[in-house]
Amino acid sequence: MHVIVVGAGIVGVCTAYYLRQLGHEVTVLERRGGAAQETSFGNAGVIAPGYVTPWAAPGMPRKVLSYLFSTEAPVLFRPTANPALWRWLLRWLGECRLARYRVNKARMQRLAFYSRDELRSLSASKGIRFEHTQGYLQLFRTERDLAMNAPARAMLDEAGVPYQLLDSQACRQLEPGLNESTPLQGGLYLPEDEAGNCPMFARSLRTIAEENGVAFSFNRHVQRILIEGDRATGVIVDDRPVHADAIVIAAACDSVPLLNKVGVRVPIYPIKGYSATVQLEPSAVGPRHALMDEAYKTALTPFSNRMRIAGTAEIGDHNLDLRDAALRTLLRVANDWFPGVGRYSEAQFWVGARPMLPDGPPLLGRTRHRGLFLNLGHGSTGWAMACGSGRILADLISDRDPEISLEGLTIERYR
Ligand SMILES: Cc1cc2nc3c(=O)[nH]c(=O)nc-3n(C[C@H](O)[C@H](O)[C@H](O)COP(=O)(O)OP(=O)(O)OC[C@H]3O[C@@H](n4cnc5c(N)ncnc54)[C@H](O)[C@@H]3O)c2cc1C
Repeated sequence: MHVIVVGAGIVGVCTAYYLRQLGHEVTVLERRGGAAQETSFGNAGVIAPGYVTPWAAPGMPRKVLSYLFSTEAPVLFRPTANPALWRWLLRWLGECRLARYRVNKARMQRLAFYSRDELRSLSASKGIRFEHTQGYLQLFRTERDLAMNAPARAMLDEAGVPYQLLDSQACRQLEPGLNESTPLQGGLYLPEDEAGNCPMFARSLRTIAEENGVAFSFNRHVQRILIEGDRATGVIVDDRPVHADAIVIAAACDSVPLLNKVGVRVPIYPIKGYSATVQLEPSAVGPRHALMDEAYKTALTPFSNRMRIAGTAEIGDHNLDLRDAALRTLLRVANDWFPGVGRYSEAQFWVGARPMLPDGPPLLGRTRHRGLFLNLGHGSTGWAMACGSGRILADLISDRDPEISLEGLTIERYR
């Protein structure tokens, strides 16, 4: 079968790899000059199925409102007149109830655990190196941060996910570089969670897929999906048709206009986030594990001799411009925990748009058009879910049963 994959972010690259493994002829069409150049480029790198959680959570609406007039908040709402934004927010609000949060989180975790296993076996079998580190530590500055984490711990207990609740001293033993003078109430350590460099992995997997026969076609902008009767038959690229037996849309936020034109509505909204990457001083003690400052929802991830600082969620803004206040917040958090360890004045900044659905889990699988498949809407956890999502799409297109249930992970949930 000839399959077109639209988009060569981490999700598209993984999908192409697994499709080829199952014997398909695969063409990846990507508008950029290489793989993983958009949202997959500068993310925090965290692969934490134990921590994977929807943004639609109890307490979040109040949090968003409390930061409404702040410029240095971890979550920012910038109201616009765009009806898509308000429709998205209404749905999101409905999903913030505890009962919905629990359902959505369980769906996301099912996929994230499966994906982590796939990532482990793929990287081990192919020898892919991607600046991997083991273990994930959430840092709680205050009693309140610790208390807010209680429902998440209850769900870890229910799911049998191992974790350790640490006092500040134990956190500092695990992370000897942490600044003594920054208040720290405690931490939650997830030994089985991990982190790694997403674009580095994507580039390696692209090379492997290409050697196996996948055709990557860069600088190709897909304008339209072709539908004949009840079937998708190809796409229009640079004003020319390219035909295929199946098409997978893995174009993150820009899947929306492509799908709208063929009557498939997906409520993805871009949620902007930023990262800074700093070179560590040769003798400095930087982070040893991926860390999450819960107060600022900012991740600090070690990548060899660099540290990635990533966070901030801006709802409402479509422009991918770097905002000074957000970048200052990232550097302030890094300086709070690791003063002087990195060349902060030479930080490399990045901004990206998380392809966010209002409830949290991505959309995988079939649409009402035969041959048209979705692999999109992975929000803030696309790296953590990419291998599993890619494998599922390859199984579905090959008429094989996926290894995990797709309950709540398909477009059926919006019908
Ligand atoms: C600040 C920040 C931190 C994050 N941290 C983490 C983290 O720690 N862990 C985690 O799991 N996730 C994290 N994420 C989320 C993660 O980065 C995304 O979920 C993931 O990268 C989405 O991958 P994707 O392949 O769907 O999208 P993308 O990487 O954006 O790929 C989509 C591709 O489609 C292409 N495309 C779009 N339209 C067209 C078209 N019409 N024709 C051709 N090509 C097209 C684009 O050029 C792009 O290359 C973070 C995101 C941000 C912003």
